[in-house]
Amino acid sequence: MASTTTETAAEAVDLLAKFDPIIQTREQLLSAGVEDPFNLVMEQVLSPTRAICNGRDTILLGTYNYMGMTFDEDVIAAGKQAMEDFGAGTTGSRVLNGTFRDHRDVEAALREFYDMDHAMVFSTGYQANLGIISTLAGKGDYIILDIDSHASIWDGCAMGNAEVVPFKHNDIEALEKRLKRVPEGAGKLVVLEGVYSMMGDVAPLREMVRIAKENGAMVLVDEAHSMGFIGEHGRGVAEEQGVLADVDFIIGTFSKSVGTVGGFCVSNHPKFEVLRLVCRPYVFTAALPPSVMASSAVSIRKLMHGGNKRTHLWENSRTLHQGLIDLGFKLGTETPQSAIIAVIMPDLEKGAMMWEALLKEGLYVNLARPPATPAGMTLLRCSLCAEHSAEQVQTILGMFERAGTAIGII
Ligand code: PMP
Repeated sequence: MASTTTETAAEAVDLLAKFDPIIQTREQLLSAGVEDPFNLVMEQVLSPTRAICNGRDTILLGTYNYMGMTFDEDVIAAGKQAMEDFGAGTTGSRVLNGTFRDHRDVEAALREFYDMDHAMVFSTGYQANLGIISTLAGKGDYIILDIDSHASIWDGCAMGNAEVVPFKHNDIEALEKRLKRVPEGAGKLVVLEGVYSMMGDVAPLREMVRIAKENGAMVLVDEAHSMGFIGEHGRGVAEEQGVLADVDFIIGTFSKSVGTVGGFCVSNHPKFEVLRLVCRPYVFTAALPPSVMASSAVSIRKLMHGGNKRTHLWENSRTLHQGLIDLGFKLGTETPQSAIIAVIMPDLEKGAMMWEALLKEGLYVNLARPPATPAGMTLLRCSLCAEHSAEQVQTILGMFERAGTAIGII
């Protein structure tokens, strides 16, 4: 009798088995009755700072909507019009049929915003890092990067096959030491971030960019979390610290201050445009919908005149930072350095309990845990919006006080 397929088939190695520890940790957490922190649904979004989440009216303190542009009337109107005029999607790559009027226009808006010669838009910020880093630094080149760099930076390094040399977070001497050890004549790219998103701290770019240049390296700075509100024109930490002219490539995203989706690189390098032909995550993917591009272009140009909003966002950041310290919470930075304030939790279990207690109070923050966080920490990450009112910030502090007392953290 012929044997059935199941009788003869060899047992397959379960390729998902390596994730068992993660499945167990998650099950343990949920069996304690905690709401799933990674499965939140926004059933209705009422404004940049309020939504109905899991059935509750909730203040949003865990989005990257720093400048509150998601509900800007002009941003929405431009998107609607472009959808009417150009349709819902591009159905193709930027280098084939996917460059529409508004892709060109958003790149013009970026050149105006940064006062730079070149701008290239990607489908996300993740892809911008993946594409630019892997295309610039290939086999035999060296990438010297902060150990706390975003996942998209690490993935860009891996994809390009360069030699990767990490240095201790924000440590100027460590950067210099690593740079001096790179073999003479090798291509060198120093990769930094303006604001580090886990702790909300800022890089000492003035010193680091100088050291990179003294040692013959090119410099790329990811300003994802600073665009729009740090620096005189909102160009980021490099502008604030006076080194923008020495940075070769700035990476950014539309998914934060701009309030849409997309990623970009701006540069003054005279050969920059060749990257459109050789950068695989730019070439081999569909271009963003025209509605997103039109909304983004309007948002970027409005951010150029966002001075008042920036001032209010800084006020919010200072008030929340001081208020949380006064309540007895341990924070990621001694002073407010950005719109992100990280509240350090004793462990994952307490962190998840605190996260849930806040949600029940009507406040959404991000629960961040390893491997996304540095030094194995569990964090409740608060990111402020220019549209949070002063009263909302006081309400938020009241919620932290009640939840922190109930969980026994303060
Ligand atoms: N760089 C940094 C520093 C980020 O924090 C993020 C996203 N959080 C990205 C890049 C990726 O941006 P996007 O959401 O547009 O993919």
